[in-house]
Amino acid sequence: MLIEHLNRQRLEREAQGLQRQRRIAESPCAPRQWVSQGGQPARELLAFCSNDYLGLANHPALVEALAEGARQFGAGSGASHLISGHSRAHAGLEDDLAAWLAPSIPNAAALYFCTGYLANLALLTALGDASATIFADKLNHASLIDGALLAKATMQRYAHRNLTVLAGQLERCTTPIKLIVTDAVFSMDGDLADLPALLALAERFDAWLIVDDAHGFGVIGAQGRGSLSHFGLHSERLIYMGTLGKAAGLGGAFVAADPSIIDWLVQSARPYIYTTAAPPAVAHALRESLRLIGGAEGDQRRAQLQQLITQLRTQLFALIAAHPTLGWRLADSSTAIQPLIVGDNTAALALMAALDAQGLWVPAIRPPTVPVGTARLRITLSASHSAADVQRLVDGLACAARESP
Ligand SMILES: *Cc1c(COP(=O)(O)O)cnc(C)c1O
Repeated sequence: MLIEHLNRQRLEREAQGLQRQRRIAESPCAPRQWVSQGGQPARELLAFCSNDYLGLANHPALVEALAEGARQFGAGSGASHLISGHSRAHAGLEDDLAAWLAPSIPNAAALYFCTGYLANLALLTALGDASATIFADKLNHASLIDGALLAKATMQRYAHRNLTVLAGQLERCTTPIKLIVTDAVFSMDGDLADLPALLALAERFDAWLIVDDAHGFGVIGAQGRGSLSHFGLHSERLIYMGTLGKAAGLGGAFVAADPSIIDWLVQSARPYIYTTAAPPAVAHALRESLRLIGGAEGDQRRAQLQQLITQLRTQLFALIAAHPTLGWRLADSSTAIQPLIVGDNTAALALMAALDAQGLWVPAIRPPTVPVGTARLRITLSASHSAADVQRLVDGLACAARESP
């Protein structure tokens, strides 16, 4: 019964162009990556899909720091943080992260999590009790949506970046605790939330602002300090979540906030308490990653990334203008996430396949990850791409555009 039930659903998904498939990376995360699929021999592809925005995932200094961390702290943590798995490496990393956010959050403390997904579940379930309302942007990341669904709090969603709707919801809200929750850089669109205006609303309505900076941490703001720094914000009402598997090149995530909030997470957040601490070597290597991100090499990498973003947008606008009947649209994004919106699921898959045939790897993103009718190629750039790499992608898209029916 179960297997037939699943097979029926699989057929439906296939008919809708929604079936997902994994590829196997045979080499480290990098623009040129050896990849295999379905038992076929591995091929080398030029990839525009990772969130490794600074090109640190395979940086020799981080590979070495990870090995050094393993020599110093062993391979695994052995237990959850509250039992015996909380090592000096984790504690040191949390000190570094608290200092990183100190310019934006007075007296900030930080807590390291195994993944960003868990950090968001932890935050929203621990703070979003029955006396709270969670106000969420409709395009927030799945982990924020799941966290809000799991929380006892009431959830109100507002249309993407629509602060008028949000202000009305806040005005009518009668619960004593109000939590506004937003992606800082929206993960499938690349656009920025208006954090200064959101913070102003939080102040006006005595609410808190939870910012998920998965795609801003390390990339935007002076020294890559992230979205709060980019907008020059400073407030005790800010609760910050940054992930460390994207620009930081390793894995895990953290929350930085007032020490009372951090302590409450340690006391009560089940996704923090009931999971084994990440290997301490990862925390050790993350401290090296923070030094790289905040230093001269980080600045160089961010400058290179910025140049590539400008190049890609200029060239893609010209390409779209030359092929108006295709209905392609470049999202309004200034970040490393540059979605090319195609609309239809099968069209997005066909475009991905046309690029694949030219040795280019750009993922097609379909519903439910994005709204119906906005299937897209999610192009992501990394500082380890070159101008020639971007040119090859644009040439590949031009070729697909000419051959498109
Ligand atoms: C990737 C991502 C997460 C989840 O972080 P992981 O460390 O990958 O679990 C959370 N929020 C946003 C906006 C993300 O893009």
